[in-house]
Amino acid sequence: TIILGIETSCDETAASVVKNGREIMSNVVASQIESHKRFGGVVPEIASRHHVEQITLVLEKAITEAGVTWKDIDAIAVTEGPGLVGALLVGVNAAKALAFAKKKPLVGVHHIAGHIYANRLAHEFEFPMLALIVSGGHTELVLMKEHGDYELIGETRDDAAGEAYDKVARMLKLPYPGGPQIDRLAAEGEESINFPRAWLEADSYDFSFSGLKSAVINKIHNAKQRELTLNAEDIAASFQASVVEVLTEKTYRAAKEYNVNQVIVAGGVAANTGLRKSLEKRFSDEDFPLYIPPIQLCTDNAAMIAAAGTILFEKGHRSTLDLNANPSLLLD
Ligand code: ATP
Ligand code: MG
Ligand code: FE
Repeated sequence: TIILGIETSCDETAASVVKNGREIMSNVVASQIESHKRFGGVVPEIASRHHVEQITLVLEKAITEAGVTWKDIDAIAVTEGPGLVGALLVGVNAAKALAFAKKKPLVGVHHIAGHIYANRLAHEFEFPMLALIVSGGHTELVLMKEHGDYELIGETRDDAAGEAYDKVARMLKLPYPGGPQIDRLAAEGEESINFPRAWLEADSYDFSFSGLKSAVINKIHNAKQRELTLNAEDIAASFQASVVEVLTEKTYRAAKEYNVNQVIVAGGVAANTGLRKSLEKRFSDEDFPLYIPPIQLCTDNAAMIAAAGTILFEKGHRSTLDLNANPSLLLD
């Protein structure tokens, strides 16, 4: 099976060709980071316009680099949600136009299913499987008993992990996106500040990062008022330590309780060095393996959408030409 994937849910215009859900033939990502940087975050209207400008080029490049022709492509998979509605619509409309013109089946894909299936481009799944999803808009623990089957066992009650990273980075006047910046600073700092860990109820797999975010912001404000010099490296290291410890422990506890065969990590924050190290250490003695995708597959791309779309296509799922963007699409 050869699937063309399209992803435009946020600020990456991406297209990719994937064979059998596992083999990347091409993976083209046009990032808009430079355009959003001066605003300190993604501006939805600018994102949509850039997608319109880029989508045709990105699609052509994906097909050329894969060395395939339209005859070889079995179906088109596209992110239908969640995400920014105007941004999603560009990808969905491009996919529908191509599906109609080239007479190809169309498959709508959930963006987070895509993040999960990014892992399958690196290694085969074994069920039951636990997925820790940590991205700009999501922080979730999902139990999978088979392909395409998602049971939400925990989620954030307020901010997503990536959102917390980006907000703290903004307070530290670091450029957007803040996650990688904090990651870099944290490596040079020390965990000298004891920020809170939100464990919530003893049996809960939910997360909360807004209290931590406020604690960091207060710390920065107080220091400014008293004209103390605060070490940004230490703030970054202490903030990251709190995020990473809670993510690691809850994932570990859920993996044990549900007795899974595999643990995978997905989403942009899976690129975080501190989180990768901490999870690898925590799971090093376990007989269920932990997998974290290569860094370039953690953040938004279309190969992951093609990979998730392959499973849906093979299961017989088809979207019709009235497929619409759904900014609040649910995973399960
Ligand atoms: P969602 O997938 O929930 O719809 P999104 O697509 O915007 O949201 P992703 O592209 O998966 O999110 O990830 C982007 C997020 O990952 C940003 O918040 C970014 O700061 C964060 N991120 C990227 N690299 C790192 C890193 N090394 N350390 C921490 N956070 C990171
Ligand atoms: Mg992005
Ligand atoms: Fe994403």
